[in-house]
Amino acid sequence: PVAIYGEDRKNSMGVNLANEQELARLAEQVNAAVKPWRATPLVPGANFAGTALPVTNPADRREQVGEWLPADTATVERALANAEAAQPGWDRLPAASRAKILEHAADLMDARLPEFIALCTKEAGKTLADGVAEVREAVDFLRYYAQQARRIMAHPEKLPGPTGESNELFLHGRGVFVCISPWNFPLAIFTGQVAAALVTGNSVIAKPAEQTNLVGHAAVKLLHEAGVPDDVLQFLPGDGATVGAALTRDPRVAGVAFTGSTETARAINRALAARDAAIAVLIAETGGQNALICDSSALPEQLVKDAMTAAFGSAGQRCSAARVLFVQRDIADKVVTMLAGAMDELVVGDPGLLSTDVGPVIDADALKVLEDHAARMDREATPIKAAKLGEAASHGTFFAPRAYELKELSQLTREVFGPVLHVIRYDAAKLDDVIAQINATGYGLTLGIHSRIDETIEKISRGVKVGNCYVNRNQIGAVVGVQPFGGEGLSGTGPKAGGPHYLHRFTIERTLTVNT
Ligand code: GLU
Repeated sequence: PVAIYGEDRKNSMGVNLANEQELARLAEQVNAAVKPWRATPLVPGANFAGTALPVTNPADRREQVGEWLPADTATVERALANAEAAQPGWDRLPAASRAKILEHAADLMDARLPEFIALCTKEAGKTLADGVAEVREAVDFLRYYAQQARRIMAHPEKLPGPTGESNELFLHGRGVFVCISPWNFPLAIFTGQVAAALVTGNSVIAKPAEQTNLVGHAAVKLLHEAGVPDDVLQFLPGDGATVGAALTRDPRVAGVAFTGSTETARAINRALAARDAAIAVLIAETGGQNALICDSSALPEQLVKDAMTAAFGSAGQRCSAARVLFVQRDIADKVVTMLAGAMDELVVGDPGLLSTDVGPVIDADALKVLEDHAARMDREATPIKAAKLGEAASHGTFFAPRAYELKELSQLTREVFGPVLHVIRYDAAKLDDVIAQINATGYGLTLGIHSRIDETIEKISRGVKVGNCYVNRNQIGAVVGVQPFGGEGLSGTGPKAGGPHYLHRFTIERTLTVNT
């Protein structure tokens, strides 16, 4: 059962993961949905040639699960021309018609839960539970942005003025929007960006992360089936250096929605600014160096459970994941011992098995970064624990979760995107210093607080500049429409995904004044 938000929208029900029968049935359906997938550019009128590239399973690199065809530059050009021509007609449709198409897409996606989970598992290494959450979130984005578009766009805002004059404020799509999405939420974030841009009257060119083309392709096919014209939403798989760069330097592009690294967001910003064209908007959700602070009033059992979920869940491949645990010195020994014990119980292996806690990381490059970081931490920090890799892990890109003890946060120079938790002890009298260390990173995405003291909670939550602060729970898995998600500083531009202000950034305003 999920709470109802607004009168006309419910968050997706998903699957009851505690019901073993339901889960076993779902696992069977997921297995049956596996097929040789193929992703190609979806660009009307393009004649792309080229060699298909294999997609392999992150949990077992010997298994090819599909193939994809990268777009060439002629296809990019064709997509831009199509998008520019198609946008005005799409923008002229009533917002309610676009919203209806999104809601139809949500129903279709809900009904195809097993196939989308299968794709997320086989291409991105998601566990079954993460797969369910992923599809739920995508469905929620579709329904939420449909509802929000009706709220803000269905009717112009009438503004009072002098007698004899009517004043109305209309919202329109900006034009051609490029959506560049990450591999860590290949369905949810991909669908969220695309849905927001479409429902506000933009034509969309969607470029998925190179690691997750199959999921993106399936989502676009579904949106077409739901009624989005194929020139209004086009799909352009390819690498960032060619396809992404060709899109972001093109003067026809009015806006970019991007989720990924801070470095890439900066490069996109520079490319957009260098164009001899109208100034484009950039909506960027980027990285984090997220902390969890606990004082001696925290419940150690709950703290350790939440820290494990936030640091190692989804193999730590969430930008919201906890990277640093600041623990008050008085309880630090106890917490570290409990953490090490809990890590001994982690099952790392085949994401298709219900017993698995941590699946693979996305690819060999990601694994190398994590292994290099672990090697540095082995030298420069105090190792607390390395979890065991299961036997099933031997053919995939797996990294065993690690915990280390550091002296201070400045020992970490960059975000490490994987299941590594760094523990730092602090003295109660030095809480201000902890807050200063976190703010000094420049990131501001999520923050966890475990404390039963109101003054401490208030001091920390007011002192640390972050977009999403969670108290006495884990700090991942923001719910659409309930916990609008996104950071500040190096973590992103806002507005928050799944929040009431997100759609505005995809629109432009036009005022109509009539002398009556
Ligand atoms: N929205 C996700 C969460 O709250 C994180 C998104 C991301 O990793 O980009 O966990």
